[in-house]
Amino acid sequence: MLWSKMSVGGVSRSERVPTMIETLGVVGAGTMGRGIAQVAVARGLAVVVSDPVAAARESGHASITKGLDRWVEKGQLSADERAAAGERLTFTDTLDALRDAEFVIEAAPEDTDLKARIFADLDRICPPTVILASNTSSISITRLGAATRRPAQVIGMHFFNPVPLMALIEVVRGLETDDATHGATVALAERLGKTPVTVRDAPGFVANRVLMPLINEAVFALQEGLASVTDIDTVFKLGMNHPMGPLALADLIGLDVTLDILEVLHRELGEDKYRPCALLRQYVAAGWLGRKTGRGFYTYDEA
Ligand code: NAD
Repeated sequence: MLWSKMSVGGVSRSERVPTMIETLGVVGAGTMGRGIAQVAVARGLAVVVSDPVAAARESGHASITKGLDRWVEKGQLSADERAAAGERLTFTDTLDALRDAEFVIEAAPEDTDLKARIFADLDRICPPTVILASNTSSISITRLGAATRRPAQVIGMHFFNPVPLMALIEVVRGLETDDATHGATVALAERLGKTPVTVRDAPGFVANRVLMPLINEAVFALQEGLASVTDIDTVFKLGMNHPMGPLALADLIGLDVTLDILEVLHRELGEDKYRPCALLRQYVAAGWLGRKTGRGFYTYDEA
């Protein structure tokens, strides 16, 4: 592990910041955590994934195995690299096992209290130099930073789904995030082969602030019977050249995650335009969460 002193605005800083991350901690083995772990092990990092749910750890491991094998079939990874990547991956059911991680990315459910608790726990577990990043789609990074004694080293790293395919990361600076943390996060994003875009901490950042009202309005259009699911999506695919329509995208994101993000936007920004559509609430109440449960606006063979 290498460390360096950073010079920020001409002022030499005494704190030590990592220049080369070797061990990454990932909190949550769900849709996003497993994608982040897959990319990181393939790019040479050792990754420890923590999730309290055994089924999530098992399906996360199976999904990463399948993803790495697919990269070998496509010639994007050699058999040796694939084998080494598999050896660098471990799963655990406790946060305590992340004590040796040099950088942690949290990808637990979109629940402010849960995330704040996780950040407070990580702050206690991880050495004070470790950067704690959240993959939150909408929750305040400043709020998560305030749950720790290291708000300068808390930052947002908002990946996109599916992580192995999507090139963007929104890097979100909280009120107190310092330049060294920002620089190390941008460097890690690039090492993962992604393109970082830095945004200010505000509900939904840029991507979800714009995307979620679009998805919500598409659900209202469906609820009001303006057109069928496939026709609403076709309007966006053929009329706006979107690769997939908003309802198919909501199924991919997860309808529970979509609802959670809209709730945060509605609460934090206080505007009616973010009020989640009743039909979306009903689908979530029914357990129709999209691709991950095999049913959302569409039905899927494989959950
Ligand atoms: P998910 O429900 O698929 O996965 C969440 C995982 O966290 C589950 O496996 C769950 O068992 C685990 N978990 C629950 N409590 C935990 C705890 N205390 N410690 C560790 N793990 C715990 O959710 P997801 O879609 O992967 O979303 C995770 C985060 O990423 C959310 O903040 C979400 O807003 C964000 N995000 C999601 C998407 C998307 O398209 N799904 C895109 C970008 C960002």
